Amino acid sequence: MSSAKKPERGLILVISGPSGGGKGTVANRLNEDPDYILSVSATTRAMREGEIPDVSYHFLTREQFDAQLAADNFLEHNCYVTGDCYGTLRSESEKVLASGKNLILEIDVNGGLQVKKKYPDTVLIMLLPPSPEELERRLRTRGTETEEKIRKRLSFASEEVRRMKENHYDYVVCNETGPEGLEAAVSDIKALVRAEKLRLERNRSLLDAFD
Ligand code: 5GP
Repeated sequence: MSSAKKPERGLILVISGPSGGGKGTVANRLNEDPDYILSVSATTRAMREGEIPDVSYHFLTREQFDAQLAADNFLEHNCYVTGDCYGTLRSESEKVLASGKNLILEIDVNGGLQVKKKYPDTVLIMLLPPSPEELERRLRTRGTETEEKIRKRLSFASEEVRRMKENHYDYVVCNETGPEGLEAAVSDIKALVRAEKLRLERNRSLLDAFD
């Protein structure tokens, strides 16, 4: 019997869900906890007002993005029909996981599935608003989008939920409206992380110590 217990590696949490579901708010709230680190993605899309380079995103030209891709520096990436590319740089992930902290990736389904393939113990979380009607209401009260864009986002939302269902996302967290809803969603995610850490396969070194 050996008393060795290796330091625990952090978990990778993928948070996906429709735009307007509150992914960004929930991810930022988790990021306030020292046990969680929100990964900063790289993107080729134009910077929006209020965004901060290397905090909101690492803003890259398409040439820079392609060079990182060719050097195999992305853990996952996705390019949309709009031509905008997004990706998670490996440099964002390795350091964080080795430190025992949990890494939050706020990425789409396509990216989430790529990460799960490379790290099968990745936890795939769908973050959903309480109903499609509430999603529509939230998109409308933002007041920043045209009717056509709202329609597109709603149909993309149904498509994303269908893909998450088909590809067996692990958990569904509902982000109810209002500050209490936000706190409940954050607390649900922390609870599922605690449970994931107790899984038998994540505690092999403790079990082996009893051999
Ligand atoms: P936005 O341009 O509004 O910031 O993000 C658009 C979409 O890109 C969101 O659904 C977001 O989850 C996704 N996204 C952001 N970063 C990444 C990333 O690193 N990888 C992938 N696959 N998707 C991302």
